[in-house]
Amino acid sequence: MKAANQILKCPICNEGTKEKYRPFCSKRCSEIDLGRWFNESYVIPGEQTSLGQENDDEMDY
Ligand SMILES: [Zn+2]
Repeated sequence: MKAANQILKCPICNEGTKEKYRPFCSKRCSEIDLGRWFNESYVIPGEQTSLGQENDDEMDY
């Protein structure tokens, strides 16, 4: 039996992935993805403050 899910595709360029760089096809693509992550985490919406206050009420026990 062969596991069909073994062949994954790089989320960056859609090429087949290499075990060494999973889940990407190359170091370059993994770095591109990492860069995207950092960019997204830098953009934090100001609404998070009000969400935190809501949580405070429920966790106060
Ligand atoms: Zn790639």
